[in-house]
Amino acid sequence: MKLLLATNNAHKREEMEAILKQVIPDVEVVSIADVYPEGIDVEETGETLEENAYLKAKTLYDLTGLPTIADDTGLEVDALNGQPGVRTARFAGENATYQDNVNLTLEKLHGVPAEERLAKFRTVICFCSDVRTVFAEGVCEGRIAEATSGTAGFGYDPIFLPTGSTRTFAEMESGEKHELSHRGRALREFATLLEQYNQ
Ligand code: IMP
Repeated sequence: MKLLLATNNAHKREEMEAILKQVIPDVEVVSIADVYPEGIDVEETGETLEENAYLKAKTLYDLTGLPTIADDTGLEVDALNGQPGVRTARFAGENATYQDNVNLTLEKLHGVPAEERLAKFRTVICFCSDVRTVFAEGVCEGRIAEATSGTAGFGYDPIFLPTGSTRTFAEMESGEKHELSHRGRALREFATLLEQYNQ
């Protein structure tokens, strides 16, 4: 099965490809860079992760005719009333770097005790093909560390401690992160749904 990953983010592509290969053995993955070397940017104008995932998957499916899958992910921090949520990529501004977003999160949680630093990552996957549109969701609960640790992964990984772990995602091997992560859970649910449709 050939699948187009509607992302320009090399980290997401790498993670999605690794996870999809575990759950859909015959999958062949291409990304936007493979079909449009000049790049295509789909503006994330939705107000929810679902809307943004759909926007990305549907736009790329309409352009290419290839079965397409998109991921939209948000970090929801309890002590910040669920922020940054749908604004996770732009928390510290439109052109914020991963480091800017991490610094702002740590700043906003300065002085908040460990037990009140609860947070979760939520990934919504949207798949569009000629026969159907499928949504899947994965949640990973955890908390925000007091400081950064580790260099693996991307985004908020250096400050996210999944529940039950004393290590951040950035201190884990990629396979270990995929077992626990929002993206791993969402893509495994997606693969199960697809299998059910194909029976
Ligand atoms: P979007 O899904 O492209 O809107 O990206 C949301 C933002 O969430 C990214 O820019 C990253 O900063 C962050 N993010 C998404 N997935 C992960 C993850 O697995 N670990 C840490 N940060 C992530």
